[in-house]
Amino acid sequence: MPELPEVETARRLIADEALHRRIADVDDSDTFVCRPHAPGELRAALTGRTLTAARRRGKTMWCETSEGGPDLGIHLGMGGRIVVTSADGQAAEGGGPRRRDAQPRKPEWDRFTLGFADGGSLVLFDKRRLGRVRLDPGIDLLGPDAAEVTPADFGRLITRGSVAVKARLLDQSRIAGVGNLLADEILWQARVHPAARTGTLRPGDADRLYRALESALASAMTRGGVHTGEVIAARHPGGTCPRCGAEMRHGTVGGRSTWWCSREQAPPDR
Ligand SMILES: [Zn+2]
Repeated sequence: MPELPEVETARRLIADEALHRRIADVDDSDTFVCRPHAPGELRAALTGRTLTAARRRGKTMWCETSEGGPDLGIHLGMGGRIVVTSADGQAAEGGGPRRRDAQPRKPEWDRFTLGFADGGSLVLFDKRRLGRVRLDPGIDLLGPDAAEVTPADFGRLITRGSVAVKARLLDQSRIAGVGNLLADEILWQARVHPAARTGTLRPGDADRLYRALESALASAMTRGGVHTGEVIAARHPGGTCPRCGAEMRHGTVGGRSTWWCSREQAPPDR
């Protein structure tokens, strides 16, 4: 599913290609993706305006609109992509790793469309229909963005209380943007067991986790998504650690399928 790096790719695409183009029409007829808005509500709110800025915190993205209009929130869900088409018909994509043209396409997988006056468009393409478009999405419940959190704030957030450290990394109200693959990659890079309790982490653990967060994010942004992480290809039965060669272990931590190195990520009770 799209995590911070994928959503940032989509945000940059909108910032680079979709701002300051007048919105001439809006297809908001998918009442599930556009809930709680009624059909026509997004059209009435957005037609005639332009997008003026594209912003993101964690996996939540929103666009500011002209003349004091509402913010347009777009969440990519489990596999959504943003497709921006220029006035001359050139399409560019941002979001999850699976490109739109790599899949059999059905028109109804375009869940939401802004039609620009210049003839181009911005589309939320989402086969699984788990994305969401809404006006003025709340971001107050989100923690600091994982790409912007300071080492001191991260250290406090990751050591407080007594939950599995992986659950804490996935808690969007504490740190926004880390999903299941990034969490496994960060813990593996830092050599921390996913079920280690937050309250038992030492300052050195918190420092390694912070550096792993920074490096995993930077690498995923450069290489095209969280699926490119070093340990991701080893997340399967029979997989071995790409660093030391030991067998990978599997379990459910924080409610999610989790893989870790049996040798370097020692169980917390040792
Ligand atoms: Zn290992």
